[in-house]
Amino acid sequence: MSQRPYVVFGTSNRNKAIEATRVVAASGVVLRPLSDFPNAIDVVEDGQTFADNARKKAIEQALCLHEWTLAEDSGVCVNYLDGAPGVHSARFAGEDPRDDKRNNQKLIELLQGVPLEKRNAHYACHMTLVDPNGTIVFDVEEYCRGRILLQEHGQNGFGYDPLFEIVEYHRTFGELSPSIKAVISHRARATRRLAPVLVQLARQNVLPLF
Ligand code: IMP
Repeated sequence: MSQRPYVVFGTSNRNKAIEATRVVAASGVVLRPLSDFPNAIDVVEDGQTFADNARKKAIEQALCLHEWTLAEDSGVCVNYLDGAPGVHSARFAGEDPRDDKRNNQKLIELLQGVPLEKRNAHYACHMTLVDPNGTIVFDVEEYCRGRILLQEHGQNGFGYDPLFEIVEYHRTFGELSPSIKAVISHRARATRRLAPVLVQLARQNVLPLF
């Protein structure tokens, strides 16, 4: 098989990688997982904003690996909770960032008794691409609006998806097919803006091949 240009995707979240890969596939550029790079570091996500964390993850990983690196930070912001869980979405209910069930349960409990019309929320996704010197070449934030339902619906997606209703569809991301999420989600919107940048970099032959 012929070699293809790549960038490192600085996340250990498999679901994020699958979703972003789907959107950039047509660009011809491969998003390589951190597991391909034994020297990859665990970047501490201690920023106050999605932008802080995405930039930090991209820059620190790029400087460590000497590679073009893409990173994203994302989460759900609930209006009634003044934007919480926000940047703390992954560890909302405890230290295990993969404990989606507990996170969702905590959100259900905090919103107990709050009527549907006051449950507006949005997902945010900040995406940053840096060159091997840690210089930012692409930086964008995108959103997806919806509301938090009283209980989980559906098994698709990950994280808060079974609670997050897209009002126009009357369905949560847990119920909607991945192909719809790949068009309307915060991550899909951010990744679609990244795709032409990747195409341009590949044309200029600045990306490494693998
Ligand atoms: P981080 O960006 O690694 O800090 O984690 C983001 C967290 O936000 C995830 O662990 C999920 O809890 C939540 N999140 C971000 N994007 C999505 C999504 O597309 N669906 C559901 N939950 C999400």
